[in-house]
Amino acid sequence: MKISRCCPFVPAITAGLLCLLMAAPVAAHPGSLWGIDLTSVLTMRDQARVVAHHHHKEHSDQLDDQVADLNQIRTVVIDPGHGGTNIGAVGIAGIPEKRLTLELAYQLREELQQKYPRLRVVLTRYWDTTVELEDRAEIANLANADLFLSLHYNAASHQRAVGFETFFLNANQALSSFEEEEEFAGEIEGVAHSSHTLELIQFDLLRAHRHELSAELAELIQHRFVRRIDSVDRGVKQGNFSVLRNAEMPAVVVEAGFMTHPEEGLEILTREHRSRITTSLIEAIEDFDVVLDEQLHDPEPADEEEAPVADGISLR
Ligand SMILES: [Zn+2]
Repeated sequence: MKISRCCPFVPAITAGLLCLLMAAPVAAHPGSLWGIDLTSVLTMRDQARVVAHHHHKEHSDQLDDQVADLNQIRTVVIDPGHGGTNIGAVGIAGIPEKRLTLELAYQLREELQQKYPRLRVVLTRYWDTTVELEDRAEIANLANADLFLSLHYNAASHQRAVGFETFFLNANQALSSFEEEEEFAGEIEGVAHSSHTLELIQFDLLRAHRHELSAELAELIQHRFVRRIDSVDRGVKQGNFSVLRNAEMPAVVVEAGFMTHPEEGLEILTREHRSRITTSLIEAIEDFDVVLDEQLHDPEPADEEEAPVADGISLR
């Protein structure tokens, strides 16, 4: 079926958009048929819910006290791993990882939204669609996310591997590009050079801080998992994940259990197991909110005393 035959509005659609429609392998799913990205429609619905809530709030002062809020975290981006042509791992149950991660993401979103109606929760995909790894972080950047959770289930070539683990980007990947940019800065001369170097140093400090926060977030998640999930604690690890590299906020990859383990591979299919994961993640988000809050109100004294200096120019 040609798209042009079933759509009377085609002349109104720009040529570029039409090209996109024709070229997209996912054109078969209803969301893209008319050039409407249902993902953004759903996000709009999320925002509409926030607006509706604010409206409701204005007309009901009593409700105000009952609604919980996080202190620092306003937007959470949840990334259901894989999707579309990238099915992820397939465990002993024969169900592809992409389906399990989407189900987990929806449940987490629902529970987060129930507990914190004013929190903005955005998913990087809402359907079984292919989303490039770089685009996932970019969605989080565009959404101005305060944290980014990429949800996955694990797989191994043997059936013994079991348990949960949380990754953050390894230091080399998270911090190395500074040198590349410094080289680039070296090519610029004079005043431009100093100010550019200054920007780079500020940028690098931000990046180092974000790296530390990602490590902290991973620790908090793992800590909560240990309390709720009766399986092996595989710990916090650093990894080279493309999905995390461009994220401009604290970001982690959660591996919530082994699909290939004879018992765990079946357990992770249950709502109970998903609930243990989502409850842990919500607790970890709350813990992390406290960390962010403390940092804001009680910054480390070292920052106060020693201002970083670049080319003799104080950063403050
Ligand atoms: Zn995965």
